[in-house]
Amino acid sequence: MADLRRPSLVSRVSFEPLNTLEQNGAPLSRDGSGVSVESGGAEYETWREEHPCALHSFDQIVAQAAGKLVAVFLDYDGTLTPIVSNPDLALMSEQARDAVRRVAQLFPTAIISGRGREKVQQFVRLAELYYAGSHGMDIVGPQVEGAPHADLAFQPAAQYGPLMDQVYSELSAGVANIAGSSIEHNKFCVSAHFRNCAPDDYPAVVDVVDTVAAAHPELRVTRGRKVLEVRPQVDWDKGTALAHLLQMLGLADPAQVFCLYVGDDRTDEDAFKVLAERGLGAGILVSSKPKPTEAFWTLRDPTDVAAFLNRLVAWGQTAANRWHTVGSCAGWAICPSLRRQHRGGNGGGLAGPATAATAPACNGSAPGSGSIPSLTAASVAAAYVKDGYLSASGQPQQQQLFSAAGKAAAAAQPGTAAAALQRPKPPLPPKPPQQ
Ligand SMILES: [Mg+2]
Repeated sequence: MADLRRPSLVSRVSFEPLNTLEQNGAPLSRDGSGVSVESGGAEYETWREEHPCALHSFDQIVAQAAGKLVAVFLDYDGTLTPIVSNPDLALMSEQARDAVRRVAQLFPTAIISGRGREKVQQFVRLAELYYAGSHGMDIVGPQVEGAPHADLAFQPAAQYGPLMDQVYSELSAGVANIAGSSIEHNKFCVSAHFRNCAPDDYPAVVDVVDTVAAAHPELRVTRGRKVLEVRPQVDWDKGTALAHLLQMLGLADPAQVFCLYVGDDRTDEDAFKVLAERGLGAGILVSSKPKPTEAFWTLRDPTDVAAFLNRLVAWGQTAANRWHTVGSCAGWAICPSLRRQHRGGNGGGLAGPATAATAPACNGSAPGSGSIPSLTAASVAAAYVKDGYLSASGQPQQQQLFSAAGKAAAAAQPGTAAAALQRPKPPLPPKPPQQ
Protein backbone atom coordinates (compact mmCIF):
# COMPACT_ATOMS: atom_id res chain seq x y z
CA MET A 1 0.00 0.00 0.00
CA ALA A 2 1.26 3.43 -0.86
CA ASP A 3 2.35 5.51 2.08
CA LEU A 4 1.39 9.17 1.75
CA ARG A 5 3.59 10.15 4.67
CA ARG A 6 6.82 10.09 2.78
CA PRO A 7 9.40 12.46 4.17
CA SER A 8 9.45 14.63 1.06
CA LEU A 9 5.79 15.51 1.40
CA VAL A 10 5.78 15.90 5.14
CA SER A 11 8.74 18.22 4.91
CA ARG A 12 6.82 20.52 2.59
CA VAL A 13 3.44 20.37 4.29
CA SER A 14 3.06 22.96 6.98
CA PHE A 15 -0.59 22.58 7.78
CA GLU A 16 -1.18 22.27 11.46
CA PRO A 17 -4.10 19.82 11.64
CA LEU A 18 -2.21 17.36 9.47
CA ASN A 19 0.74 17.61 11.79
CA THR A 20 -1.57 17.12 14.73
CA LEU A 21 -2.87 13.93 13.26
CA GLU A 22 0.62 12.64 12.67
CA GLN A 23 1.86 13.68 16.08
CA ASN A 24 -1.03 11.81 17.59
CA GLY A 25 0.08 8.73 15.78
CA ALA A 26 -2.97 8.49 13.60
CA PRO A 27 -1.88 7.46 10.12
CA LEU A 28 -3.31 9.13 7.07
CA SER A 29 -5.94 6.85 5.72
CA ARG A 30 -5.72 5.36 2.26
CA ASP A 31 -8.46 7.66 1.00
CA GLY A 32 -6.36 10.66 1.92
CA SER A 33 -8.98 12.04 4.27
CA GLY A 34 -6.91 11.56 7.39
CA VAL A 35 -9.85 9.80 8.98
CA SER A 36 -10.26 6.09 9.19
CA VAL A 37 -13.43 5.72 11.24
CA GLU A 38 -16.71 5.57 9.38
CA SER A 39 -19.74 7.56 10.39
CA GLY A 40 -22.21 6.18 12.86
CA GLY A 41 -21.29 3.60 15.40
CA ALA A 42 -20.13 3.87 18.95
CA GLU A 43 -16.99 5.86 18.24
CA TYR A 44 -18.90 8.54 16.38
CA GLU A 45 -21.46 8.79 19.15
CA THR A 46 -18.71 9.05 21.76
CA TRP A 47 -17.06 11.80 19.73
CA ARG A 48 -20.38 13.62 19.51
CA GLU A 49 -20.65 13.65 23.27
CA GLU A 50 -17.59 15.88 23.20
CA HIS A 51 -18.76 17.82 20.13
CA PRO A 52 -22.55 17.99 20.41
CA CYS A 53 -24.89 18.31 17.48
CA ALA A 54 -25.61 21.98 16.82
CA LEU A 55 -29.20 21.17 15.90
CA HIS A 56 -29.86 19.30 19.11
CA SER A 57 -28.08 22.05 21.04
CA PHE A 58 -29.59 24.93 19.11
CA ASP A 59 -31.18 26.56 22.17
CA GLN A 60 -27.86 26.49 24.01
CA ILE A 61 -26.08 28.09 21.09
CA VAL A 62 -28.51 30.95 20.58
CA ALA A 63 -28.64 31.51 24.34
CA GLN A 64 -24.98 32.55 24.02
CA ALA A 65 -26.01 34.99 21.31
CA ALA A 66 -28.69 36.68 23.38
CA GLY A 67 -28.35 40.43 23.25
CA LYS A 68 -25.43 40.31 20.83
CA LEU A 69 -24.98 41.04 17.19
CA VAL A 70 -24.84 37.81 15.25
CA ALA A 71 -22.63 37.23 12.21
CA VAL A 72 -22.45 34.06 10.13
CA PHE A 73 -19.41 32.68 8.31
CA LEU A 74 -19.71 29.67 6.05
CA ASP A 75 -17.33 27.44 4.17
CA TYR A 76 -18.65 26.23 0.80
CA ASP A 77 -17.51 22.75 -0.30
CA GLY A 78 -18.61 20.06 2.11
CA THR A 79 -20.56 22.63 4.13
CA LEU A 80 -23.17 24.13 1.83
CA THR A 81 -22.81 21.45 -0.82
CA PRO A 82 -21.71 17.82 -0.67
CA ILE A 83 -18.20 16.92 -1.77
CA VAL A 84 -18.49 15.64 -5.35
CA SER A 85 -16.13 13.86 -7.70
CA ASN A 86 -15.95 16.77 -10.14
CA PRO A 87 -15.26 20.00 -8.22
CA ASP A 88 -16.77 22.01 -11.07
CA LEU A 89 -20.10 20.37 -10.33
CA ALA A 90 -20.28 21.24 -6.62
CA LEU A 91 -23.57 22.99 -7.17
CA MET A 92 -25.57 24.42 -4.34
CA SER A 93 -29.16 23.26 -3.94
CA GLU A 94 -31.91 25.87 -4.15
CA GLN A 95 -32.88 24.94 -0.61
CA ALA A 96 -29.40 25.69 0.66
CA ARG A 97 -29.21 28.91 -1.35
CA ASP A 98 -32.55 30.02 0.03
CA ALA A 99 -31.40 29.27 3.58
CA VAL A 100 -28.24 31.33 3.11
CA ARG A 101 -30.18 34.15 1.45
CA ARG A 102 -32.58 34.37 4.37
CA VAL A 103 -29.73 34.23 6.89
CA ALA A 104 -28.05 37.11 5.09
CA GLN A 105 -31.23 39.14 5.32
CA LEU A 106 -30.92 38.94 9.09
CA PHE A 107 -27.20 38.84 9.79
CA PRO A 108 -23.99 39.82 8.03
CA THR A 109 -22.99 36.64 6.23
CA ALA A 110 -19.74 35.65 4.58
CA ILE A 111 -18.50 32.69 2.57
CA ILE A 112 -14.87 31.79 3.28
CA SER A 113 -13.66 29.17 0.83
CA GLY A 114 -10.52 27.66 -0.57
CA ARG A 115 -11.98 28.09 -4.02
CA GLY A 116 -11.27 31.01 -6.22
CA ARG A 117 -13.52 33.84 -5.10
CA GLU A 118 -15.18 34.38 -8.45
CA LYS A 119 -15.91 30.68 -8.78
CA VAL A 120 -17.57 30.43 -5.40
CA GLN A 121 -19.55 33.60 -6.17
CA GLN A 122 -20.81 31.89 -9.32
CA PHE A 123 -21.80 28.84 -7.30
CA VAL A 124 -23.58 30.77 -4.54
CA ARG A 125 -25.08 33.58 -6.65
CA LEU A 126 -25.96 35.83 -3.71
CA ALA A 127 -24.58 39.33 -4.22
CA GLU A 128 -25.44 40.43 -0.71
CA LEU A 129 -22.78 38.26 0.93
CA TYR A 130 -19.17 38.94 1.82
CA TYR A 131 -16.83 36.54 0.03
CA ALA A 132 -13.31 35.43 0.89
CA GLY A 133 -11.89 33.08 -1.75
CA SER A 134 -8.48 31.41 -2.02
CA HIS A 135 -8.54 30.55 1.68
CA GLY A 136 -9.28 34.15 2.54
CA MET A 137 -6.65 35.69 0.27
CA ASP A 138 -9.25 37.34 -1.96
CA ILE A 139 -11.90 39.29 -0.03
CA VAL A 140 -14.79 41.39 -1.32
CA GLY A 141 -17.81 43.00 0.29
CA PRO A 142 -21.44 42.80 -0.81
CA GLN A 143 -21.97 43.72 -4.45
CA VAL A 144 -25.35 45.37 -3.97
CA GLU A 145 -26.50 48.91 -4.38
CA GLY A 146 -25.75 51.02 -1.34
CA ALA A 147 -23.75 48.38 0.47
CA PRO A 148 -21.17 50.16 2.63
CA HIS A 149 -18.59 47.41 2.33
CA ALA A 150 -18.59 47.05 -1.44
CA ASP A 151 -15.07 48.51 -1.28
CA LEU A 152 -13.86 46.02 1.28
CA ALA A 153 -11.72 44.26 -1.33
CA PHE A 154 -8.42 43.00 -0.04
CA GLN A 155 -5.84 40.62 -1.50
CA PRO A 156 -2.92 40.06 0.88
CA ALA A 157 -1.14 37.81 -1.63
CA ALA A 158 -1.78 39.84 -4.76
CA GLN A 159 1.89 39.90 -5.76
CA TYR A 160 1.85 36.10 -6.12
CA GLY A 161 -0.69 36.10 -8.95
CA PRO A 162 1.80 35.50 -11.79
CA LEU A 163 3.61 32.79 -9.80
CA MET A 164 0.34 30.98 -9.15
CA ASP A 165 -0.37 31.03 -12.89
CA GLN A 166 3.03 29.41 -13.43
CA VAL A 167 2.36 26.82 -10.73
CA TYR A 168 -0.94 25.98 -12.36
CA SER A 169 0.82 25.33 -15.66
CA GLU A 170 3.56 23.24 -14.04
CA LEU A 171 1.15 21.13 -12.03
CA SER A 172 -1.15 20.62 -15.01
CA ALA A 173 1.76 19.37 -17.09
CA GLY A 174 3.01 17.21 -14.25
CA VAL A 175 -0.20 15.27 -13.69
CA ALA A 176 -1.21 15.09 -17.34
CA ASN A 177 -0.63 11.34 -17.41
CA ILE A 178 -2.10 10.50 -14.00
CA ALA A 179 -5.61 9.21 -14.57
CA GLY A 180 -8.28 10.89 -12.51
CA SER A 181 -6.11 13.73 -11.28
CA SER A 182 -7.06 17.34 -11.91
CA ILE A 183 -5.57 20.76 -11.22
CA GLU A 184 -7.79 23.65 -10.23
CA HIS A 185 -6.67 27.28 -10.35
CA ASN A 186 -8.13 29.08 -7.37
CA LYS A 187 -6.31 32.35 -7.99
CA PHE A 188 -3.97 32.47 -4.99
CA CYS A 189 -4.12 28.74 -4.38
CA VAL A 190 -3.69 25.93 -6.89
CA SER A 191 -5.37 22.65 -5.97
CA ALA A 192 -4.29 19.17 -7.05
CA HIS A 193 -7.28 16.87 -6.72
CA PHE A 194 -6.70 13.14 -6.36
CA ARG A 195 -10.23 12.12 -5.37
CA ASN A 196 -10.77 10.35 -8.67
CA CYS A 197 -7.38 8.67 -8.86
CA ALA A 198 -6.73 5.03 -8.12
CA PRO A 199 -5.25 4.87 -4.61
CA ASP A 200 -2.00 3.51 -6.00
CA ASP A 201 -1.68 6.72 -8.02
CA TYR A 202 -1.94 9.03 -5.01
CA PRO A 203 1.85 9.06 -4.51
CA ALA A 204 2.38 10.14 -8.11
CA VAL A 205 0.23 13.22 -7.54
CA VAL A 206 2.07 13.89 -4.31
CA ASP A 207 5.37 13.65 -6.16
CA VAL A 208 4.31 16.21 -8.74
CA VAL A 209 3.07 18.64 -6.11
CA ASP A 210 6.16 18.16 -4.01
CA THR A 211 8.47 18.70 -6.97
CA VAL A 212 6.74 21.88 -8.11
CA ALA A 213 6.53 23.29 -4.60
CA ALA A 214 10.18 22.47 -3.90
CA ALA A 215 11.20 24.59 -6.87
CA HIS A 216 9.50 27.63 -5.35
CA PRO A 217 10.56 28.27 -1.76
CA GLU A 218 7.97 31.01 -1.48
CA LEU A 219 5.23 28.39 -1.68
CA ARG A 220 3.82 25.94 0.81
CA VAL A 221 1.59 22.88 0.52
CA THR A 222 -1.48 22.16 2.60
CA ARG A 223 -4.00 19.42 2.27
CA GLY A 224 -7.72 19.16 2.40
CA ARG A 225 -10.14 16.40 1.63
CA LYS A 226 -8.41 14.40 -1.13
CA VAL A 227 -6.71 17.51 -2.39
CA LEU A 228 -3.26 19.05 -2.05
CA GLU A 229 -3.10 22.80 -2.25
CA VAL A 230 -0.15 24.99 -3.17
CA ARG A 231 -0.26 28.47 -1.71
CA PRO A 232 2.06 31.42 -1.19
CA GLN A 233 4.06 31.49 2.03
CA VAL A 234 2.02 34.36 3.41
CA ASP A 235 0.83 34.56 6.97
CA TRP A 236 -2.77 34.28 5.94
CA ASP A 237 -5.39 31.57 6.24
CA LYS A 238 -9.10 31.26 6.89
CA GLY A 239 -8.55 32.20 10.52
CA THR A 240 -6.64 35.33 9.61
CA ALA A 241 -9.23 36.20 6.99
CA LEU A 242 -11.97 35.78 9.59
CA ALA A 243 -10.09 38.02 12.02
CA HIS A 244 -9.60 40.59 9.27
CA LEU A 245 -13.29 40.62 8.37
CA LEU A 246 -14.32 40.88 12.00
CA GLN A 247 -12.05 43.86 12.44
CA MET A 248 -13.14 45.58 9.24
CA LEU A 249 -16.82 45.08 10.06
CA GLY A 250 -16.50 46.29 13.62
CA LEU A 251 -17.28 42.86 15.04
CA ALA A 252 -14.25 42.23 17.20
CA ASP A 253 -15.84 42.86 20.61
CA PRO A 254 -16.94 39.58 22.23
CA ALA A 255 -19.16 41.54 24.61
CA GLN A 256 -21.32 42.64 21.70
CA VAL A 257 -20.77 40.06 18.99
CA PHE A 258 -21.51 36.38 18.55
CA CYS A 259 -20.15 34.69 15.42
CA LEU A 260 -20.99 31.34 13.95
CA TYR A 261 -18.43 29.70 11.68
CA VAL A 262 -19.48 26.51 9.89
CA GLY A 263 -16.93 24.44 8.00
CA ASP A 264 -15.91 20.89 7.26
CA ASP A 265 -12.22 20.89 6.47
CA ARG A 266 -8.83 21.16 8.12
CA THR A 267 -8.46 24.64 6.72
CA ASP A 268 -11.53 25.71 8.70
CA GLU A 269 -9.79 24.78 11.93
CA ASP A 270 -7.86 28.07 11.81
CA ALA A 271 -11.16 29.94 11.91
CA PHE A 272 -12.54 27.76 14.70
CA LYS A 273 -9.41 28.56 16.65
CA VAL A 274 -9.85 32.32 16.22
CA LEU A 275 -13.40 32.20 17.55
CA ALA A 276 -12.43 29.98 20.47
CA GLU A 277 -9.41 32.03 21.48
CA ARG A 278 -11.24 35.34 21.27
CA GLY A 279 -14.49 34.16 22.86
CA LEU A 280 -16.31 35.45 19.82
CA GLY A 281 -18.74 32.65 19.15
CA ALA A 282 -19.10 29.08 18.11
CA GLY A 283 -17.30 26.92 15.57
CA ILE A 284 -19.40 24.20 14.00
CA LEU A 285 -17.60 21.33 12.26
CA VAL A 286 -19.49 19.53 9.51
CA SER A 287 -18.47 15.90 9.63
CA SER A 288 -20.01 12.46 9.53
CA LYS A 289 -16.82 11.01 11.00
CA PRO A 290 -15.01 11.74 14.23
CA LYS A 291 -11.93 13.89 13.82
CA PRO A 292 -9.83 16.19 15.95
CA THR A 293 -11.24 19.70 15.88
CA GLU A 294 -11.18 23.09 17.55
CA ALA A 295 -14.93 23.36 16.97
CA PHE A 296 -17.16 22.68 19.92
CA TRP A 297 -20.33 21.92 17.95
CA THR A 298 -20.92 19.65 14.98
CA LEU A 299 -23.33 18.99 12.15
CA ARG A 300 -23.35 15.80 10.16
CA ASP A 301 -23.65 17.04 6.57
CA PRO A 302 -24.79 19.95 4.35
CA THR A 303 -28.41 18.94 4.81
CA ASP A 304 -28.02 19.49 8.54
CA VAL A 305 -26.28 22.79 7.82
CA ALA A 306 -29.30 24.02 5.84
CA ALA A 307 -31.58 22.87 8.64
CA PHE A 308 -29.45 24.74 11.17
CA LEU A 309 -29.51 27.91 9.07
CA ASN A 310 -33.27 27.70 8.74
CA ARG A 311 -33.60 27.41 12.51
CA LEU A 312 -31.33 30.41 12.86
CA VAL A 313 -33.63 32.35 10.54
CA ALA A 314 -36.68 31.33 12.55
CA TRP A 315 -34.90 32.40 15.74
CA GLY A 316 -33.92 35.73 14.22
CA GLN A 317 -37.46 36.39 13.09
CA THR A 318 -39.08 35.95 16.48
CA ALA A 319 -40.41 39.07 18.13
CA ALA A 320 -37.71 38.94 20.78
CA ASN A 321 -35.00 38.97 18.15
CA ARG A 322 -36.69 41.24 15.68
CA TRP A 323 -34.10 43.93 16.33
CA HIS A 324 -31.67 41.75 14.40
CA THR A 325 -33.91 41.90 11.37
CA VAL A 326 -34.77 45.55 11.47
CA GLY A 327 -31.46 46.83 12.68
CA SER A 328 -29.38 44.57 10.52
CA CYS A 329 -30.95 45.51 7.21
CA ALA A 330 -29.12 42.69 5.48
CA GLY A 331 -25.82 43.40 7.08
CA TRP A 332 -26.61 46.05 9.67
CA ALA A 333 -24.77 48.90 8.08
CA ILE A 334 -26.21 48.82 4.63
CA CYS A 335 -28.47 51.80 5.15
CA PRO A 336 -26.60 54.89 3.87
CA SER A 337 -28.43 57.43 6.00
CA LEU A 338 -27.78 55.50 9.17
CA ARG A 339 -24.16 55.01 8.20
CA ARG A 340 -23.65 58.71 7.68
CA GLN A 341 -25.40 59.45 10.92
CA HIS A 342 -23.69 57.00 13.21
CA ARG A 343 -20.36 56.02 11.84
CA GLY A 344 -17.03 57.58 11.12
CA GLY A 345 -15.31 57.30 7.79
CA ASN A 346 -13.71 53.88 8.16
CA GLY A 347 -16.70 51.91 6.95
CA GLY A 348 -16.90 49.79 10.08
CA GLY A 349 -20.10 48.12 11.09
CA LEU A 350 -22.59 49.43 13.54
CA ALA A 351 -21.48 48.87 17.07
CA GLY A 352 -24.81 47.87 18.51
CA PRO A 353 -28.26 46.65 17.63
CA ALA A 354 -30.78 49.10 16.35
CA THR A 355 -34.53 48.87 16.52
CA ALA A 356 -37.42 50.42 14.71
CA ALA A 357 -39.81 52.23 16.95
CA THR A 358 -42.65 50.49 15.22
CA ALA A 359 -41.23 46.98 15.54
CA PRO A 360 -43.12 44.90 18.08
CA ALA A 361 -41.38 43.97 21.31
CA CYS A 362 -38.44 46.22 20.59
CA ASN A 363 -39.37 49.67 21.83
CA GLY A 364 -35.80 50.84 21.63
CA SER A 365 -34.77 48.61 24.51
CA ALA A 366 -32.80 45.99 22.66
CA PRO A 367 -29.83 44.73 24.63
CA GLY A 368 -26.73 46.67 23.85
CA SER A 369 -28.47 49.65 22.29
CA GLY A 370 -27.20 51.80 25.12
CA SER A 371 -23.66 51.41 23.78
CA ILE A 372 -24.35 54.05 21.14
CA PRO A 373 -25.68 57.11 22.92
CA SER A 374 -26.67 58.87 19.72
CA LEU A 375 -28.49 55.86 18.32
CA THR A 376 -32.16 55.83 19.16
CA ALA A 377 -34.96 53.68 17.94
CA ALA A 378 -36.61 56.68 16.38
CA SER A 379 -33.48 57.81 14.51
CA VAL A 380 -32.84 54.33 13.20
CA ALA A 381 -36.38 53.90 12.04
CA ALA A 382 -36.37 57.31 10.38
CA ALA A 383 -33.12 56.55 8.57
CA TYR A 384 -34.36 53.22 7.30
CA VAL A 385 -37.65 54.65 6.17
CA LYS A 386 -35.83 57.50 4.44
CA ASP A 387 -33.65 55.10 2.47
CA GLY A 388 -36.52 52.80 1.68
CA TYR A 389 -35.38 49.84 3.73
CA LEU A 390 -38.37 50.09 6.01
CA SER A 391 -41.92 50.93 5.09
CA ALA A 392 -43.65 53.70 6.99
CA SER A 393 -45.23 51.00 9.12
CA GLY A 394 -41.85 49.52 10.01
CA GLN A 395 -41.84 46.53 7.67
CA PRO A 396 -38.44 45.62 6.18
CA GLN A 397 -38.26 46.33 2.45
CA GLN A 398 -35.46 43.94 1.63
CA GLN A 399 -36.17 43.93 -2.08
CA GLN A 400 -34.61 47.39 -2.17
CA LEU A 401 -31.28 45.72 -1.59
CA PHE A 402 -31.54 43.51 -4.61
CA SER A 403 -32.81 45.94 -7.17
CA ALA A 404 -32.09 45.44 -10.84
CA ALA A 405 -30.07 48.64 -10.82
CA GLY A 406 -27.86 47.36 -8.02
CA LYS A 407 -27.23 44.06 -9.76
CA ALA A 408 -26.46 45.80 -13.03
CA ALA A 409 -24.02 48.12 -11.30
CA ALA A 410 -22.24 45.19 -9.70
CA ALA A 411 -22.07 43.30 -13.00
CA ALA A 412 -20.69 46.34 -14.82
CA GLN A 413 -17.75 46.61 -12.45
CA PRO A 414 -16.03 43.23 -12.44
CA GLY A 415 -12.75 44.95 -11.63
CA THR A 416 -13.96 46.42 -8.39
CA ALA A 417 -11.62 44.31 -6.30
CA ALA A 418 -8.58 45.14 -8.41
CA ALA A 419 -9.39 48.84 -8.36
CA ALA A 420 -9.79 48.80 -4.63
CA LEU A 421 -6.41 47.17 -4.25
CA GLN A 422 -4.80 50.29 -5.62
CA ARG A 423 -5.83 52.05 -2.45
CA PRO A 424 -3.79 51.79 0.76
CA LYS A 425 -4.36 48.46 2.41
CA PRO A 426 -5.68 48.26 5.95
CA PRO A 427 -3.25 46.97 8.56
CA LEU A 428 -3.14 43.23 8.96
CA PRO A 429 -4.70 41.87 12.13
CA PRO A 430 -2.32 39.98 14.40
CA LYS A 431 -1.93 36.31 13.61
CA PRO A 432 -3.38 34.23 16.43
CA PRO A 433 -0.69 32.23 18.22
CA GLN A 434 -0.21 28.70 16.93
CA GLN A 435 -0.77 25.89 19.35
MG1 LIG B 1 -14.99 22.68 2.87
